Amino acid sequence: MTDGEGRTIDYLRISVTDRCNLRCAYCMPEEGVAWMPHDMILRYEEILRLCRIFGEMGVSKFKLTGGEPLVRRGLERLVAGLKALPNTRSVTITTNGVLLEERLPALLDAGLDGVNISLDTLDRERYRALTRRDGLGQALASLDAALAVPGLNVKVNCVPREGGREDWIALAGLAREKLLAVRFIELMPIGRGRGLSPCTEGELRGALEAAYGPMAPYEGPAMGNGPCRYAALPGFAGKIGFISAMSHQFCHGCNRVRLTANGFLKTCLQYETGVALRPLLTQDDSAIRAAIETAVQNKPAAHQFARQGVENGEEHNMNQIGG
Ligand code: SAM
Ligand code: SF4
Repeated sequence: MTDGEGRTIDYLRISVTDRCNLRCAYCMPEEGVAWMPHDMILRYEEILRLCRIFGEMGVSKFKLTGGEPLVRRGLERLVAGLKALPNTRSVTITTNGVLLEERLPALLDAGLDGVNISLDTLDRERYRALTRRDGLGQALASLDAALAVPGLNVKVNCVPREGGREDWIALAGLAREKLLAVRFIELMPIGRGRGLSPCTEGELRGALEAAYGPMAPYEGPAMGNGPCRYAALPGFAGKIGFISAMSHQFCHGCNRVRLTANGFLKTCLQYETGVALRPLLTQDDSAIRAAIETAVQNKPAAHQFARQGVENGEEHNMNQIGG
């Protein structure tokens, strides 16, 4: 499907829950938040009905996110259902990895195509300080388990924080021996990320080159669903990626929309624009299709994170949006 700016929209990020087993400082307050009531959260059957319609409209790639998607029971059932839709090309998950190792076999049986594991440090104490939980051992065991699966697309996502040089270097180092993409996602001023200082891509590149040698643009086959720019480091089996919404705005090539756990179709990360699809579930497919069509036509042209006080700006935390 095409939006009002002529961009092809073929990718849907589905937040299956706002709940999480970690409390990353840039995402959620330490004390947690008031969770969405259970009866507001879309059932899997409802998500699948909406995704069938999205599929008929041209969406072929689905990402499961949260909150932490693996805290929701039976996610394998949703993966299998999405894979069974006729137009699906890929179903992937973004997870903190804490629960992934034990769930991986069932997710693979269901047809999962790829795994993104969010990891901001390899140091146990800093992990505990950043996430306010002790889950590094489990996340690393999950990463190893995922890397051991032939053909599974595995990525590590890190939101680098100011002064975290040692962590960036250690995380990038994971791609030295392993066929893995380590991606650095610039902190965005959403929810708890507001007021924190992002570390710039230039600073990151400088630190990685000082540690590992000069970076070259990655020349291999295109990979992934979106705005990541990949680079190669000398002698590395894997690659390094940069997703820099702030310093290298990529809205002109945006291919995605988001579905929140309570069924709001969100058309831009920065804005509250979109349409509540849950109330339309009592109607026939044509009403839902029309609502999606209108919302996508009105998808904002670009974010304006650099501007203060943007009208209709996003007021939710990232755990409610899905990243
Ligand atoms: N819990 C899962 C996880 O951590 O991967 C999925 C949901 S989480 C909201 C998705 C991604 O958003 C994570 O990689 C997280 O680091 C990132 N994220 C959260 N808050 C962010 C912010 N303010 N700016 C940039 N990325 C953020
Ligand atoms: Fe949970 Fe992911 Fe947010 Fe961390 S980034 S608190 S793991 S939803």
